[in-house]
Amino acid sequence: MKISRRAQAVPPSATLAVTAKAKEMKKQGVDVVSFGAGEPDFDTPDFIKEAAIKAMKAGRTKYTAASGTPEIKAAIAQKLKRENGLDYSAEQIIVNIGGKHSIYLAMQATLDAGDEVILQRPYWVTYTETIKLAQAKAVFIEASKDTGYKITPKQLKKAITKKTAMLLLNSPNNPGGFTYSPDELAGLAKVLEGTDIIVLSDEIYEKLIYGDTKFVSFASLSDDAYNRTITLNGFSKTFSMTGWRIGYAAGAIDVIKAMGRLQSHMTSNPVTFIQDAAIEALTNPAAAETIEKMRCEFEKRAKFMADRLNSIEGIACTEPTGAFYCFPDVSAHFGRTINGSKINGSMDFANALLEQANVALVPGEPFGCDNNVRLSFATSMQQIEKGLERLENWLKK
Ligand code: PMP
Repeated sequence: MKISRRAQAVPPSATLAVTAKAKEMKKQGVDVVSFGAGEPDFDTPDFIKEAAIKAMKAGRTKYTAASGTPEIKAAIAQKLKRENGLDYSAEQIIVNIGGKHSIYLAMQATLDAGDEVILQRPYWVTYTETIKLAQAKAVFIEASKDTGYKITPKQLKKAITKKTAMLLLNSPNNPGGFTYSPDELAGLAKVLEGTDIIVLSDEIYEKLIYGDTKFVSFASLSDDAYNRTITLNGFSKTFSMTGWRIGYAAGAIDVIKAMGRLQSHMTSNPVTFIQDAAIEALTNPAAAETIEKMRCEFEKRAKFMADRLNSIEGIACTEPTGAFYCFPDVSAHFGRTINGSKINGSMDFANALLEQANVALVPGEPFGCDNNVRLSFATSMQQIEKGLERLENWLKK
C-alpha cells in the first residue's frame, strides 16, 4: 500500500528501539542491564489505582466532554495555582492522551508551514518529529557543555528570525538531566519581550529535582511570559502513570480551544475513569509523601551514577539536577576498536556495548548530541552498580 510522504518522513522512536532490543535479548535469556527506561521503576500508587477501579465500577465508562471533565479541569487549575502560582480558568485547560499528545496538539494548533521553532541541542527525540508533522522548521541552538547544556539569552536572541513562531523549553530536561534556574529562565523570557513568539514549556519532570535545585514554571515569571506560554504537564513521571496515558496543557483560551477542536475529531476525551483517577492523584493528601519518597530515591541514584561514571576513564558526566537521566560525554572513546568493533560515534558505542557487555543505553545521536549517551537511573541501585561495572570492564578491553 502507498505510504504518505508525511509518515515516511517520521522514523520510529530511537529511545523505544533500544529498550525493545534489550527486551528481546532478555526474552532470549540474556542477562541484560537496561538503562534505556524513560519511565519510573515504581508502581502507580494504590490510591490512584483504586480510584480508577471505583470509577469504572460506578459506570464512569462513557464519553465525557472531549477536552476533559469539568472536575479534572478544576483539579488541574487548583494544582497549577497551588504548586506553580499560575491562574488558569477551566477554559484555559485541556486534558489529553499523555504529554506527547499535548505537544502534538499544541503544535498542530499554532504552527503553519515554514514557521520556525527554536529548540536546543540536545533535544528530546519527539520534538523534532512533531515539529516536522506540523510542517514547521526546527532551528537548533547548540547548548554547550560549558553552560551545562543550557542555552543562553545571547544565543536565543541570535536564533530569532521573522519566521520564529515558537520556543520549545524542557526543564528539567530529557535527555540532559539539567534544570534551568529561575534566573536563567528569566533571562530567556526577557529576550522574548516585544515578540509574538509562543513558548511551549514542557514541565513534565517538575517534581524530579535534586539538591538545592529550584523549579519554576516559565509562565509564572511575568505577565508577558504568562501570555505567551503553553504550559505542558502530565501524570506519567510524577505519579508513575506512563501506561495510563494522560497529560494536559494550559494557556490562552484561543489556543486551548483550537487544540480542543482537533482533539474532538482525533481521539475525543481521555479515558473517562482515568480522568477520575488523575483527579485522585492531584487531590489525595497521600500523594506528596509518595512523590517525595520516589524523588529521594532518584536523588541518591543520580549522585551515585554520575560519580561512578566520572570514575571511569574517558567518561565525563555532569551530575543531574532533574529528571532521571545521566547524559555523559563518551567521545574520548571514539576512534577506538573495542573487541573488534570500531567505535565511531554514540550509535556504535551503544550497539557494541549491548552486544558485547549486555548493557543497554540510548545513543546521543537521535538527541542531536553524538558525543553523549543517555543512561536512565529509573532502575535499582543494584542494577546501576552491575551495569556500570560491566561498562567499565568493557571499555578496558
Ligand atoms: N516530555 C518529555 C521531555 C518526556 O521525556 C516525555 C516522556 N518520555 C513526555 C513529554 C511525554 O510523556 P507522556 O506522553 O507519557 O505524558
